[in-house]
Amino acid sequence: MIKTANVQGFKINLLKYAEALDFVKISLDNGENIQIVTINPEMIEAAKQNPSFADVLKYSELVVPDGVGIKLALKFKGIEQEQIRGVDFAQSLIELSEQNGYKLALIGAKPEINQKLAEVLKEKYPKLNIVYHHDGYFQNEDEIINDIKNSGANLVFTALGAPKQEFFNAKLKSTLQGVASIGLGGTFDVLSGSVALAPPIYRKLGLEWLYRTIKQPERFKRIFPTLPLFLFHSIMEAGSKIKD
Ligand code: UDP
Repeated sequence: MIKTANVQGFKINLLKYAEALDFVKISLDNGENIQIVTINPEMIEAAKQNPSFADVLKYSELVVPDGVGIKLALKFKGIEQEQIRGVDFAQSLIELSEQNGYKLALIGAKPEINQKLAEVLKEKYPKLNIVYHHDGYFQNEDEIINDIKNSGANLVFTALGAPKQEFFNAKLKSTLQGVASIGLGGTFDVLSGSVALAPPIYRKLGLEWLYRTIKQPERFKRIFPTLPLFLFHSIMEAGSKIKD
């Protein structure tokens, strides 16, 4: 059993970066079906309003803290947990795939970005086995799942935005065998070189969300009031535990 913490009713796995990567490797090598969630405060706030999404999160085999907000919520509870950013984790999984011959499928993002990502990765990792890739603007989910099945992929990256990618991955888990899937949000945009990675100072301070909001101001309404609200609830939750 992996160590977990509970943030506002939602489980977060408490693993170091290398341990989380090992967990995925072992699952892949054993041919297990797992769903990985890179969770952030927006997802928790959304899941509070959406019981089906909350269920998907609950039954995911690995939930890692992508957002700095989750790291802070854990800190309020006295738990030190490193942030496991989706973009970094995806990069490590790509390297792991190249070394171990995993069969990778890339589902998501706009058609030109999906195509560019496949090309950039093939160039950078010549031995990487990308068995299937498709943009994230498809109509028929079952067709894509069938394509993934036929490709023989055992590691599936989905970048459809939350909660769409988590629902997709849950369906993948219930339909296919021996597949590890991970929801990666806007990561394909970054990995393909179409959107800049937050500069080191933003990453060091856990302010990638601020950098993304500056670059894409339309994201403002997604962050506010969700992020402050989430932090407020986290402080209240930590405070009530201290009183008990
Ligand atoms: N996307 C997609 N299909 C959709 C909706 C979104 O492939 O139906 C892609 C979108 O092009 C982007 C990613 O999903 O690459 C979501 O990015 P966003 O910034 O919304 O995700 P976040 O990182 O905030 O979860």
